[in-house]
Amino acid sequence: MDLTLLDRALAEAGEPRFRSRQVWEWTARGASSYGEMTNLPATLRSRLEESVAFSTLRLEREARAGDGTEKALFETTDGRPVEAVLMRYRDGRRSLCLSSQSGCPLTCTFCATGQMKFGRNLSASEILDQALHFRRREAVNHAVFMGMGEPLLNLDAVLAACERLPELGIATSHTAISTVGWIPGIERLAEDGPRVRLALSLHAAEESLRSELMPVNDRYPLPEVLQACRDWSAARRLPVFVEYLMLDGVNDRYEQAVALAEALTPAETFKVNLIPYNPTDADFAGSSRAAIAAFRAALEEHGVRATVRLTRGRDIDAASGQLAATTG
Ligand code: SAH
Repeated sequence: MDLTLLDRALAEAGEPRFRSRQVWEWTARGASSYGEMTNLPATLRSRLEESVAFSTLRLEREARAGDGTEKALFETTDGRPVEAVLMRYRDGRRSLCLSSQSGCPLTCTFCATGQMKFGRNLSASEILDQALHFRRREAVNHAVFMGMGEPLLNLDAVLAACERLPELGIATSHTAISTVGWIPGIERLAEDGPRVRLALSLHAAEESLRSELMPVNDRYPLPEVLQACRDWSAARRLPVFVEYLMLDGVNDRYEQAVALAEALTPAETFKVNLIPYNPTDADFAGSSRAAIAAFRAALEEHGVRATVRLTRGRDIDAASGQLAATTG
């Protein structure tokens, strides 16, 4: 729901200011139409139905994986693709993976979104509408900005959405923003805004390899990015999550685990999440389970905490940009 448009429509209808709050509260709790908002006058409900679309996004396509993961592909009113994913875990966690941009201006070589054309930044309402789509079905409790786009290039809208996620049931401490290492954004997160978690897509500790995988590394080299992460961690008193995609024969050797461990100092500041690669059209293959386990053991041997991410939704191409990339 376009919350700016909603406020305007309510003002034009001469409604008191609290109406906007009422509409939002219903929406955040999972209402699926204005019709359900029984504390609004019936005439206002029908007026809103005509003037403010219930969602800024139109559902284009949906896929459900055998493990319960659901992926939705939406279109904005100007025809831009947007993806979001709901991951269901046995422990009750219901985690949303949200997009901050349609497409992405960065060109990470392993990522399906990076290979797409960049569209534009999403508005806070377009981000919230991804979450609300799933909230209308069931209770949700975690969110990560690991869908399409670089959240720190659209930080105002991302933070505005984060401010409202608690009303959908997602605590700020259960919300994580993932970045390629866009230093100005990391610095801003250290200074103000909600106390969200920070995740860094690291993927290679050697400069030349990281630049090859993630050209943004030429602009913000890893040592400087890690320093910004340490400063964020000190300011927020929270650890930084490090994402490391496991690419067969590219970044999964023993020495590379040692180099990663050496870069991640002090070790208490960082928690590594090793990510099995979801194949895309790019020329990469995922590391074997044995290689991932060995890499993890090498990190732990060097004092770095590391976990292996559960693979979700592999049969529906649930990784960033994959659904949009295979459509049309
Ligand atoms: N731009 C931000 C947010 C995008 S999410 C960032 O780069 O952090 C990026 C994450 O998506 C990566 O860290 C990685 O964990 C995941 N990812 C991207 N492509 C993937 C693939 N093909 N398989 C598995 N994970 C992938």
